[in-house]
Amino acid sequence: MLILLVGPPGAGKGTHGKRIAAKRGWSHVSSGELLRDAVERRTPLGLEAMEYMRAGSLVPDDIMLRWIEELLDDPKHRHGIVLDGFPRTVPQAEGLDALLERYGQEVACMLFFDISEEAAVGRLAARVSCTGCGTVYNLISRPPSTAEVCDRCGGKLEIREDDATETIRARFEEFRRLTEPMIEYYQAKGKLARVSTDGAIDDVGRRVTEVLDELCRCRDAEGTA
Ligand code: AMP
Repeated sequence: MLILLVGPPGAGKGTHGKRIAAKRGWSHVSSGELLRDAVERRTPLGLEAMEYMRAGSLVPDDIMLRWIEELLDDPKHRHGIVLDGFPRTVPQAEGLDALLERYGQEVACMLFFDISEEAAVGRLAARVSCTGCGTVYNLISRPPSTAEVCDRCGGKLEIREDDATETIRARFEEFRRLTEPMIEYYQAKGKLARVSTDGAIDDVGRRVTEVLDELCRCRDAEGTA
């Protein structure tokens, strides 16, 4: 089962992606998290991606398509993947679909977490994440018990380098220009489910559960894996 998560920066893809994966026993793979880790460790992928990420631009499609091919080849993800942040452009979506066809698979569903730019900028200004385990906190709605320290692992909490307001604006611009057409691509294939991000995290989580439960029921009825 392959579920795609898409949404502008700050829409909550990461938070809900982790929850879905934990609940259903699937892998949560965030392209943004893996790229940030690659940049930090200065791997060849990180060195290629670094400048684009700092500017709030998308990493070029050819680099991302090499990355997804390796990921799909990894047998540890065979039981199911919640793919958070990939694809983000039409060429990435076409490349992904072509790869899946090789494995006799297809995308089950794309969940689109919608949020306005103003709401996202407000949310991201309050976002800090753990440099150790990646847990995300919101200093207003979900603060850590001790300032700058992760409740889960004791790691240091930091604001993401690309969460500066002007970089967020650039990321939104990229979203509108390159990612919205990709969302239309999956909508045309009947794979899109819109999830409203209004309300508390648990309310959004309930909406996600309803969509996925319905999807699983339909697939069971059709006998699809
Ligand atoms: P995210 O954590 O999903 O907001 O991603 C952070 C940054 O990683 C983005 O602003 C891009 O620079 C880069 N990135 C993540 N996923 C992709 C992708 N599928 N294609 C291109 N760039 C990506």
